[in-house]
Amino acid sequence: METHFKICASCLQEDENVSSSEWCWNCMEGLCTECAKYHRKQKPSRQHKIVVLNNIPNFDVLLSYIHTSCPMHNNQSLLSFCSTHRDLCCELCVKTSHGDCKQVITLTEAAATTTNDDVAEKFKSLEKLLEIKTETIRKSLVSQGEEVVQKVQQMRTEIDKYFDKLEEEVKKNLIVQHESYLKLVHQENSSVDECFHEIKIMKELVCVLSDDIPSEISFQLRNEMIKILQNHNNKFSSSTKQAYQFLFKPVDVMSLLETNVKSLGEVCITKISDACHVSGNQIPCQKINEIIYDRKSSEKFKETSVTGDQNSQNDRKKSTEMKAERIPEKASPTHKLNYLS
Ligand SMILES: [Zn+2]
Ligand SMILES: [Zn+2]
Ligand SMILES: [Zn+2]
Ligand SMILES: [Zn+2]
Repeated sequence: METHFKICASCLQEDENVSSSEWCWNCMEGLCTECAKYHRKQKPSRQHKIVVLNNIPNFDVLLSYIHTSCPMHNNQSLLSFCSTHRDLCCELCVKTSHGDCKQVITLTEAAATTTNDDVAEKFKSLEKLLEIKTETIRKSLVSQGEEVVQKVQQMRTEIDKYFDKLEEEVKKNLIVQHESYLKLVHQENSSVDECFHEIKIMKELVCVLSDDIPSEISFQLRNEMIKILQNHNNKFSSSTKQAYQFLFKPVDVMSLLETNVKSLGEVCITKISDACHVSGNQIPCQKINEIIYDRKSSEKFKETSVTGDQNSQNDRKKSTEMKAERIPEKASPTHKLNYLS
């Protein structure tokens, strides 16, 4: 019945498939325009509450919230309500699954307690919670992202520092090597000076060589000088071939890095335990408590407030007397909302 709200139930009885444009809440049936017109005129259905389907968006969703009979107990009528579990119950449910529940009242009583305001309040609190949750998630991700960037920058700084240190070490080494080179050059320079000095002395000696000196002696002197000069010549001609250069054997840091360091770190998103939750789906309705209290304190339960057709219910004294038979006149739509728990 509920799933076929788009087809006129009256026409379907005569095997005619006609789209429904209206809905009778009392019969819980779809009606075509023609049948709806007739439905309103007929005496038995004159008081029925009929709505135009086009006026209600998501009518299928609305219908899915409404249970006309107990799905657990062979389609028994749902005439009671357990406010602890927010469940509609049939007579059997009341005795079995809600046997220990203290807050079981009739559906009619319950209908008088809930208003759109109660739902609106729930909408508001849930929407607020969702907004907070969304904002918290967004904010925490943003700040965590900033933390990642900061961490990478810190790593880069440390890497730069380390390479700065290595660079400094090479420069220091260069200075040490340069100094030892200068020492070497200095030693060579001093031997060159010595050589010049020796040449100068020998030149003077050559000048004083004369016929007064026996030729054997002067030969010996000349020969000695030639030998010394020859030695110096040999020494310096070999040493001038020596040149100094800095030899630098660089470590192939780039290929080492590229082989061993493939990234600075992986970034992924993981689920952490959810600390945020919607609390409490049981709002002990004050009105419900009042009804329970009234019922306990007085044998004769008096209905305080009734929605819908009041006249047809005024003579009912105890809701427990209600028959498990569907009485369309007292049917009032009850919304079953699934809250997050
Ligand atoms: Zn019809
Ligand atoms: Zn009807
Ligand atoms: Zn049941
Ligand atoms: Zn219960």
